[in-house]
Amino acid sequence: MRVVQKFGGTSVGSLERIRKTADIVAAELERGNEVAVVVSAMSGETNRLIALAHELNPDPERRELDAMVATGEQVSAALLAIELKSRGIAAYSCNGAQAGFRTDSSHARARIRDVDGSQLIERMQQRAVPVVTGFQGVDERGNITTLGRGGSDTSAVALAIALKADVCDIYTDVDGIYTTDPRIVPQARKMDHISYEEMLELASLGAKVLQTRSVELAMRYKMPIHLRSSFNLVPGTIVSEEDANMERAAISGVAYNRDEAKITVMGIPDHPGIAAGIFGPVANAGINVDVIVQNVSAQGFTDITFTVPRGDYKATLDLMHKACASMQAKDVTGDNTVAKVSVVGVGMRSHAGVAGKMFEVLAAENINIQMITTSEIKITVVIDEKQVDAAVRALHGAFGLEGEPAA
Ligand code: ASP
Ligand code: MG
Repeated sequence: MRVVQKFGGTSVGSLERIRKTADIVAAELERGNEVAVVVSAMSGETNRLIALAHELNPDPERRELDAMVATGEQVSAALLAIELKSRGIAAYSCNGAQAGFRTDSSHARARIRDVDGSQLIERMQQRAVPVVTGFQGVDERGNITTLGRGGSDTSAVALAIALKADVCDIYTDVDGIYTTDPRIVPQARKMDHISYEEMLELASLGAKVLQTRSVELAMRYKMPIHLRSSFNLVPGTIVSEEDANMERAAISGVAYNRDEAKITVMGIPDHPGIAAGIFGPVANAGINVDVIVQNVSAQGFTDITFTVPRGDYKATLDLMHKACASMQAKDVTGDNTVAKVSVVGVGMRSHAGVAGKMFEVLAAENINIQMITTSEIKITVVIDEKQVDAAVRALHGAFGLEGEPAA
């Protein structure tokens, strides 16, 4: 087998942790596998560096920021290589350029153009272990670029694809993806397996653990990710293609997000162009709109309600007051104490009635649904944020996610 192992900031956060990480690499080699490693900066290091730059200038040039933050990963890659070498393992550190990561020139959010893995493959076949810096690459003029915060996950998946690895193991400080947030439901269960699509839809449960881009990339190239803990060496959660033969529960997980605000534009004269009149200015301001509901029009007037991240609430309200005037709409109202709760699962494709059951469960808890939106494998409701915990607990229980998954 050929394995790419990625270690996050906490797994290389101290010399003690680097020794533990070297144990994990050594064990993989002992199993007879070919190994390449990708590392993050030591935990806290990227933040520390960015803060330094901001002390000099609140808006530092991005090219220089990239040159600076890329050093974090170089330190951890070199330290791990030193430790592996002192154990007699033929390890060597590689920065982004040395590992063949070519990117575009958008500093601080560069996209990977291609990764040339030919040299690394040759050396891995001779039992050498490249320890590659995550998060960074070079553009065509040789400038150092970085992929955006959390980008080492994406580096690891891209490297696994380039090296034609069998799996990309991502070692972190949690032991997998849970059916919901264990802080709300202590009986939440670790999932052994989840599909790429579910992982993307369960953003609130998964996004803090894996950079979304890395999952999108893995899905495109069908690269399995094994998300697991470097602190507790039990099997974690495999993120891979959906297994069509598997008997599935209707729902795989319950996600929520409190970072939501709702805005309603009321009494808009209903004619072509009103949605563009509302969402154009919001998009131009770089604000992400999520759930949208438009009412049927009565007497030629309609209402549109939508949600935005809570931090963008005030800015969006201001934009809507302006749009309201130019569209001759009657009023704008909003509420920044709402939240989103979603049930997610590829099982929805074969189980009818999931939406009905979700609404019944919420009704029994006396939870008022303000907005509803669905995709093929997800149903989302917008509710009062004070009722999130009750909603998550009730749904997690009602869909049988505690203990063994229901067939
Ligand atoms: N060190 C970078 C960050 O903190 C990249 C990463 O860790 O994935 O965002
Ligand atoms: Mg991370």
